[in-house]
Amino acid sequence: MKHNVFKDLAPAYIDQLTSEETNKQMEKHMDQCEDCRKYLNKMKEDIFVEHKVERKKEHSSIDYFKKVRAKNRKKVFVIVSSLLSVFLILITIYYFMFVNMWLADTDNVETSLQNQGMTVTLSFKSKKANHYLLTQDAMSDEGYIDSIFVYEKRDDFSTPAELLKDGINVTYTFLDENTLLLDNGTKHKIKDDDIVSIHYKDRIEEIFVKDLYDTNNESK
Ligand SMILES: [Zn+2]
Repeated sequence: MKHNVFKDLAPAYIDQLTSEETNKQMEKHMDQCEDCRKYLNKMKEDIFVEHKVERKKEHSSIDYFKKVRAKNRKKVFVIVSSLLSVFLILITIYYFMFVNMWLADTDNVETSLQNQGMTVTLSFKSKKANHYLLTQDAMSDEGYIDSIFVYEKRDDFSTPAELLKDGINVTYTFLDENTLLLDNGTKHKIKDDDIVSIHYKDRIEEIFVKDLYDTNNESK
């Protein structure tokens, strides 16, 4: 076998693509020719190194995917924790809106009616220490129904001192026996069925507006 034929066949021989007959001839040649033997060994080595490099590349691409996964994990963590904090904020808001504040029990409310001149003041004061009351005034357009919702609330540090001490007032100003001056400045002609309804947790108290005026008058 000629040296150049051996060198041409070497890659195929390494890949085990050559025939048994060719293998025999090549091995025979290698026994006799040191140069070709070295050539083949060098080629084997080169191929081995090449494979190693390829494997390394594969490893580094696996590392890359690992890094990407770690990054995604961080992203998921950020999303989950921000969702959690939003949830906590909503719970806190819910607590202060609905749990920390509730319709007051009449037993816990000291209600009084005061009059000064042409004004009548409904006062609501909490009987419990460290509790205070808030009212929500809802005026209905149909006829005149003034609904007052009396809420009880635990004292938080933002509570104005007068709410704890004096309670909360709802004031009615009369222009005369038949006329009520509304908050928006309009004059309301008082009808017989005009009502102020006070909503507590356990009951609703109703007072005729004309009776409010009468209490005002009686004191004079
Ligand atoms: Zn040779």
